[in-house]
Amino acid sequence: MKRYYVHKYNSNHEVHREDCSTNFDLSNMMYLGIYSNCTDAVREAKRTYPDADGCRICSSECHTK
Ligand SMILES: [Zn+2]
Repeated sequence: MKRYYVHKYNSNHEVHREDCSTNFDLSNMMYLGIYSNCTDAVREAKRTYPDADGCRICSSECHTK
């Protein structure tokens, strides 16, 4: 289980896992919760940002854009 965050300001609201190698700034992120997979995290993110998408690096199986 990992913590997931969604970027609040970038164009497609990417969802990142806490251990993503991208150096995201937590102050720009909204905490989503603890999930075992990115699918559930992206679903949660889409409640706030309908265009949310998985990060290409840490959540590639949820990266669609
Ligand atoms: Zn990431």
